[in-house]
Amino acid sequence: MLTGKSGDAVNWLQDKFNLDLSKVSRLGGHSQPRTHRGGAQFPGMTITYAQMERLEDLAESMPDRVAIVKKARVTNLIFENGAVRGVEYEHKGQKYREEGVVVLATGGYAADFDDAESLLKKHRPDLMKLPTTNGDHCTGDGQKMVNRIGGKLIDLEKVQVHPTGLVDPRDPDAKVSSVAARPMRALTSSAGQVPGCRGAARCRRPAARQRGQALRRRARPPRLRDGPHVGERQCVVCVARLVLC
Ligand SMILES: Cc1cc2nc3c(=O)[nH]c(=O)nc-3n(C[C@H](O)[C@H](O)[C@H](O)COP(=O)(O)OP(=O)(O)OC[C@H]3O[C@@H](n4cnc5c(N)ncnc54)[C@H](O)[C@@H]3O)c2cc1C
Repeated sequence: MLTGKSGDAVNWLQDKFNLDLSKVSRLGGHSQPRTHRGGAQFPGMTITYAQMERLEDLAESMPDRVAIVKKARVTNLIFENGAVRGVEYEHKGQKYREEGVVVLATGGYAADFDDAESLLKKHRPDLMKLPTTNGDHCTGDGQKMVNRIGGKLIDLEKVQVHPTGLVDPRDPDAKVSSVAARPMRALTSSAGQVPGCRGAARCRRPAARQRGQALRRRARPPRLRDGPHVGERQCVVCVARLVLC
């Protein structure tokens, strides 16, 4: 069991956003087909854009109920009489206070390298040396806010490590990297070599694929597997992404 009620979530997306999620695919790391998508080339983008557009429509049609504040940074939970009453946030140099129900969705903490309260350092110090494939916003702000009001956090040591990440030759020590999931799986053994591309060789077992951090193995450049599953296109994708880094 990976997640509960995921079927309901798929139905909700299809019903409310008129999304086509009729195809069920078996992707890397899966023992059974379980990823829903439609015919669109970039299903993730299709799904998230449908939701963003709906939110924007609501903000326009119901401004008294829905407001979108971009580039705001939530700093604290307002915690009074044993309950969360709202948030404090900063926007364009000003401090604000918003009261109401709070749903925290600030992401993970795999890019939490520098903060004195670094969750990564505390719970997975062994991973501090790796770059992350998360965005640089993943500094655990939500978890820390919850911590500060006495909330309990669980499973913080469960950080995924993706075996392959792209290294930008112009900035090889960058702490925020890009994942190279499919192309890099092709680069784990035998034949050719893609210049400037480094990755961990041990991604034979799909279960070992992980996302939170990109592992780079400097001493041993990845190699291109010479087999029927590896097409030229994958190499091109990989090289193209390197160039785009
Ligand atoms: C390389 C990679 C590939 C992935 N591929 C897939 C995939 O193919 N399919 C899939 O289903 N999942 C994939 N995932 C996982 C998926 O992206 C994450 O699980 C998902 O994005 C997490 O969503 P979230 O809303 O919790 O956090 P996020 O998407 O990280 O969003 C957090 C948001 O909170 C904002 N934020 C953070 N702190 C604050 C603050 N203090 N104040 C205000 N805003 C703040 C951030 O700016 C950000 O917009 C992938 C992840 C990675 C890293």
